[in-house]
Amino acid sequence: MRTIALLGGMSWESTVLYYQQINEGVKTRLGGLHSAKIVLHSVDFHEIEVLQHQGDWAAAGKALATAARSLQAAGGDFLVICTNTMHKVVPEIAAAIDMPILHIADATAAAIKAQGLQTVGLLGTQFTMEQAFYKDRLMEQHGLSVLVPEAGDRATIHRIIYDELCLGKISPASRQEYLTIINRLKAAGAEGIIAGCTEITLLIQQADLSIPLLDTTALHAAAAVDLALKE
Ligand code: GLU
Repeated sequence: MRTIALLGGMSWESTVLYYQQINEGVKTRLGGLHSAKIVLHSVDFHEIEVLQHQGDWAAAGKALATAARSLQAAGGDFLVICTNTMHKVVPEIAAAIDMPILHIADATAAAIKAQGLQTVGLLGTQFTMEQAFYKDRLMEQHGLSVLVPEAGDRATIHRIIYDELCLGKISPASRQEYLTIINRLKAAGAEGIIAGCTEITLLIQQADLSIPLLDTTALHAAAAVDLALKE
């Protein structure tokens, strides 16, 4: 079994889910007392969030590259970055390590294609919804069509992620706001919805939706189990 290097803490509310789901996946596959081999580096999210909102991606990338190097030194075989947003600095991280990075958008795209979907709505931080690093990978490398909410809706989704979900606050009113936005994306042609922020699964589940929900946390964790156990 390969050792999974988790770069987490962004926020820790979703890193908990990765730790649990990866271990459950290994237990299901191998049985008995088997559990995942994991090394974890969990950052202080406050420090990263300040850099994100200052637009200082170079400093954020440097901090995560240093963390990733420590995970490699600790015996990690491949890297799982437990946030969609910070995949923005994958090039900086990749340049600092020798181990492969299991990209969250690739794990998500594989599931979208396996379900036969072509047009998907993307929810996430404003960074993820508005910048090229995530959408372009889905469109250019995986041939998908990606719809994002309009500006006001993007601001609402972003605010709820940072002010509530990353603090473990789950509000029925915010769930309703998300569902309203999801319905607008569906009306615009979305065949499925990417929960493109690893905390969204705390607020919205498949049972809340009439179209497929692509839970990036669960898909990324499952892909990590597959790679860890691959012959
Ligand atoms: N966990 C979130 C994501 O998947 C947001 C927190 C962050 O900015 O890293 O994008």
